[in-house]
Amino acid sequence: METSPVESAVVDEEIDEAARALEGRPAEDVLAWGARRFAPRITFATGFGPEGCVLVDLVARHGLAIDLFTLDTGLLFPETYALWRRLEERYGVVIRAVRPEHSVADQAAAHGDRLWERDPDRCCELRKVVPLRQALSGFAAWVTAIRREQTAARASARVVEPDGRFGLVKLNPLAAWTSAAVWDHLRAHDVPVNPLHARGYPSVGCWPCTTPAADGEDPRAGRWRGREKTECGLHARPAAVSLATLTLDRTSQRSP
Ligand code: SF4
Repeated sequence: METSPVESAVVDEEIDEAARALEGRPAEDVLAWGARRFAPRITFATGFGPEGCVLVDLVARHGLAIDLFTLDTGLLFPETYALWRRLEERYGVVIRAVRPEHSVADQAAAHGDRLWERDPDRCCELRKVVPLRQALSGFAAWVTAIRREQTAARASARVVEPDGRFGLVKLNPLAAWTSAAVWDHLRAHDVPVNPLHARGYPSVGCWPCTTPAADGEDPRAGRWRGREKTECGLHARPAAVSLATLTLDRTSQRSP
């Protein structure tokens, strides 16, 4: 079902109002609003970075009705797989695995070995963006762990915003958080984190595309090192966002 221009304008207005009302509020308030407004059609795709661990902690400790999943590219570090299990055990939650259609071996047979070295955009499309798009179908909203200070592309992220790329509402509860605030939260609540951070990897993705970052380097400098690429494509910010594909059930509408 497509929304009419009038319905889209109403959705736009609601998102704008929520973004203004929730800016500066604690992340758990943003998550709680999202759960009230969208459950059971709200999900969080965690990549198990420090920010993702903060959000798993908040969702679980506050008992929020937010689905959890991760994109398992088949190329994660062993330490990341271990953290996944640790978080599930610690909080008694299930973090679902969303996997690409093809295994790494099948991808090598179809596109050649080590596609990530020759065409990382294509590799990310096949192993992350397509599975994410499929995983998000049926949801009305998704939570992300992005922070404004991470990249220039993320600097304008709002706490609640339309995501025209996937036709959803996007919640960025940590948009205004600093890296120091993230680590303060992790320590204060004894949240499990990836041990690779302590070994010089401030940002951890797939093992073929992640290297340590030196002191003073941008924390994401180790991702796709030596390439212009800085994003998987999951959080690309289109110049113009269309809400025409949003199909929200406004019967459960709540104010922040
Ligand atoms: Fe492929 Fe690297 Fe993207 Fe992982 S991060 S999907 S290995 S290009």
